[in-house]
Amino acid sequence: MNLDQYIQLIKAGEIVAFPTETVYGLGADAWNPSAIQKVFETKGRPADNPLIVHISNQDQVFDFVEKIPERAKKLMDAFWPGPLTIVLQKKPKVLDLITAGLDTVAIRMPDHPIAKSFIAQTGPLVAPSANRSGRPSPTKAEHVRADFGAKFPVIDGGATEVGLESTVVDSSGEQIVILRPGKIGLSDLEPVLGEKVAIASKADSEVPKSPGQKYSHYKPQAAVYYGEIDSIMRENLYLVQTDTIGKEKNVINYKGDLIRFSKELYDRFRQADLEGYNSIFIENIDAFSKKAPAYYAALLNRIEKACSNK
Ligand code: AMP
Ligand code: MG
Repeated sequence: MNLDQYIQLIKAGEIVAFPTETVYGLGADAWNPSAIQKVFETKGRPADNPLIVHISNQDQVFDFVEKIPERAKKLMDAFWPGPLTIVLQKKPKVLDLITAGLDTVAIRMPDHPIAKSFIAQTGPLVAPSANRSGRPSPTKAEHVRADFGAKFPVIDGGATEVGLESTVVDSSGEQIVILRPGKIGLSDLEPVLGEKVAIASKADSEVPKSPGQKYSHYKPQAAVYYGEIDSIMRENLYLVQTDTIGKEKNVINYKGDLIRFSKELYDRFRQADLEGYNSIFIENIDAFSKKAPAYYAALLNRIEKACSNK
């Protein structure tokens, strides 16, 4: 199939997976309730977990939002297209299916050549990560096929660049609040805004501010453990940062490169399952937090959600 055929499918109310710079999304027309319903049913996604609307130009924000707060406008100008999702007060006509009944809507403009040209021709799409609910987000087309087979088409754009989901910020209050950490972090946001940015506490994420954060996520079948590693066993996969552990084939050393680690984390989770490893041990990454603070926060958030010992 070519891009035109995928576009026609979306217009006909079907769902199509496509690559973005973060992870693969499962796209559906943001104005078509039955297409959006298909997304929830296909993923097995709880109805109280709202979806992100993906757009291809800033004017489209006004289809969903009455007024853009000054802070949010600064963020759009600085980081769009890019891996930043902004939560805004919604217009009444935005479908409740998308927002899970909240009075806000989450919007982002992805920065990926395929996503950009696809959305430019389909119009705004909802596009949650194209995995079965609870599984690791897909960073390759084959991950989507592994979860869903041929249920819907996947536009193959190779491995995604960032590998972790977008940063989500709430701009509906008096201060910008990071609801979900991602590649764009505090030290990127604050200089643009010229003011402090808050981080939602774990307790906050239990309440409906960012409903998705309350679910167990990103989990492989293998148990995931995070912390110090002192010995290795053949039946486990080890994702390490230092040379002290060993060089066996089940030991993958990122040497503190948290950018590469982010890009590959979900692929390693899925690979561990395919290769039948019992557990995945991830060595503590604290020593590298200053080298890449945003990736560090994003990785810790995803690892904690995948973990059995946290
Ligand atoms: P996913 O598309 O699977 O990456 O998940 C979307 C994330 O965006 C979830 O964590 C949702 O809770 C969050 N989200 C979507 N809409 C809103 C909203 N209106 N307010 C707060 N968080 C939202
Ligand atoms: Mg998801």
